Amino acid sequence: MTEPADGPGQILFSADDVAALQSHLKSILESVPDGMIVIDETGRILAFSKAAEALFGYEAEEIIGRNVRQLMAGRDETNHDQYISNYLQTGERQIIGVGRVVTARRSDGTLFTIDLKIGEAKIGDHWLFTAFVRDLTEQRRAEMRMREMQSELVHFSRLSAVGTMASALAHELNQPLTAVANYLEAGRDILDSPGAEKRELLREALDEGARQAVRAGDIVRKLRGYVSRGEIDARSVELGPLLIDAAALARLSMSSKDVPVTLNVASNVGNVLADPIQVQQVVINLVRNAQEALSASPSPKIRINAERRDKGLIEVSVCDNGAGLDEEVKKSLFKPFTTSKSGGMGLGLSICQTIVEAHGGTICADLAPDGGTCFRFTLRTDPAINAG
Ligand code: ADP
Repeated sequence: MTEPADGPGQILFSADDVAALQSHLKSILESVPDGMIVIDETGRILAFSKAAEALFGYEAEEIIGRNVRQLMAGRDETNHDQYISNYLQTGERQIIGVGRVVTARRSDGTLFTIDLKIGEAKIGDHWLFTAFVRDLTEQRRAEMRMREMQSELVHFSRLSAVGTMASALAHELNQPLTAVANYLEAGRDILDSPGAEKRELLREALDEGARQAVRAGDIVRKLRGYVSRGEIDARSVELGPLLIDAAALARLSMSSKDVPVTLNVASNVGNVLADPIQVQQVVINLVRNAQEALSASPSPKIRINAERRDKGLIEVSVCDNGAGLDEEVKKSLFKPFTTSKSGGMGLGLSICQTIVEAHGGTICADLAPDGGTCFRFTLRTDPAINAG
């Protein structure tokens, strides 16, 4: 290499230098511990490191020349070309030099979470961008386990609150129900007794009994109002990214055995009216149940689909190719405390049903085409965004 006469900052290379640089780049691509991907300003992949091959499941030769979008998911996949052209036009950095945690897609369609850092270089009139990719699956799994333990604590404290509430409710209801029983018995005795005034007494006993029954109904209504008050914070949300995040979260919290999860969101799905955290909770519950149903399966698979149905509804389905539903469980699938698992609480599906119905949807289960189980639930589309 030589410094040119017209000043520092520019370096001229001899043919030998170029060959040496190429073999240096090759050795970097072979040995860099993170996935390293070089793209040009159209998003075309120019170089793909050994570690990237292992992460994404592509050979360098098959992916070089393709658009880097192929390795992305959700909004990033749709908008990546736009990101580059915005940057080239405005020079505004969104991710370059900052880094971000995003969802990536392997060659088999499964999703995983990565930490992405991007560097840039200008060669003549053209830009090159180099992405460094680190797989966060393990780190996320540990974080998720931590969060799970916390949420289990909250869950148990909630359960004890439910227990307290149930005994308070039993106490509250006991009084009007005993009164109803007493008035009915008194009514029966009056019917058996002689006397002209019994018609009036009977009317009083029945009136009083009815009043007490209404009071019992009021108590139940108030309690339901209390339980559901302010729980759903529905707003317009894009369903695709919401499902991608939920699938990634569910996979992260899975046990050691990796079950491939594929996600297919029809292009006309758009926005739904939903409380995103709660809907994600439903999907996570269903994916976890599917994973548990697949523990003995030789080639386990989970598929999440979202498609449009009529009457402004979107149907989300979570299907597995597992053993199918237990006949006994099927009879009261969505009822609390229905479980076939020794350590199961049998609350997951009843909570899913509460959340889906609070969103104005329905949930059901049927036989999957390949023999497992499909859980399907509906959500309402946002008419402001999905006109027609
Ligand atoms: P839990 O998982 O604690 O048992 P759930 O309410 O989530 O509680 O599930 C209730 C029962 O429904 C499970 O015990 C299981 O028998 C059955 N079930 C749920 N999902 C599936 C599935 N994908 N395949 C087969 N059975 C399932």
